[in-house]
Amino acid sequence: MEIQKSTGVVLSSFPGGEADWIARIFTREYGKRTFVFKGIRKSRKRSTLVAEPGTVVDLMYYYHDNREYQVAGEFQVRDHFYSIREDLERIFHLYLILETVEKITGFNDPNRQIFDLLARGLETLSSSHYPVNVTLFFLIHLFRLNGILPDFSSCKICGKQNLAGFTLDYHDCTPVCVNCSGGSRMQGSSLFSSGTGEFLRLAGMRKFKDIDHRVFSGDEPHHVLFSLCMFVEYYFQIMLKSKASLFSDQRDGHHV
Ligand SMILES: [Zn+2]
Repeated sequence: MEIQKSTGVVLSSFPGGEADWIARIFTREYGKRTFVFKGIRKSRKRSTLVAEPGTVVDLMYYYHDNREYQVAGEFQVRDHFYSIREDLERIFHLYLILETVEKITGFNDPNRQIFDLLARGLETLSSSHYPVNVTLFFLIHLFRLNGILPDFSSCKICGKQNLAGFTLDYHDCTPVCVNCSGGSRMQGSSLFSSGTGEFLRLAGMRKFKDIDHRVFSGDEPHHVLFSLCMFVEYYFQIMLKSKASLFSDQRDGHHV
């Protein structure tokens, strides 16, 4: 038994027992872990904000490696991102980001880069006017960190560059030009413009603030995000439940 300190992002949480709150937290130091906040549902002094998904929390606890969860001894909210919680669209994006991290990471498997990406992603989500772009950016960098960033620069079949119209094959997230996809375009998949190709390429190389997001707005980013989610689900063999709230308009033809 040793005392450990962690800073983490709450990925999900649910009530436990009569007065507790159980939270899955991605910590900077130790990766994903489960913590129980004892008595906070009945406490007047301690706020349940600490266990809300998306909250960044500082924790101190006795670590037991034979336990399924750790009991949070001392804890403090570092950031609660009120501006995300005031806006339904941003909340949907928050949940998609958190669910993705929760489902593709293992327990007690530290990954400082994923932690930093997650923490920065939530900060950007709380301030940006382009929440869809934030999530796209987040996923592209998650692909990069996992070594699965696709080559967005050319058609995977004919090799053509500067694609004016293309779709994304959800098996590997690579572009297929309009000629090569022909009539066999997958049902429900969208045709993207060259601007989207440019955004996807730049997103993997630049910082979020160094991209002009005004030229990449409207419906298309939303459709691109749907394609990227399809790839995440296919590649990691998971279901993103939170996708349903973001894409309630794209249900037909897809498993939601
Ligand atoms: Zn082609």
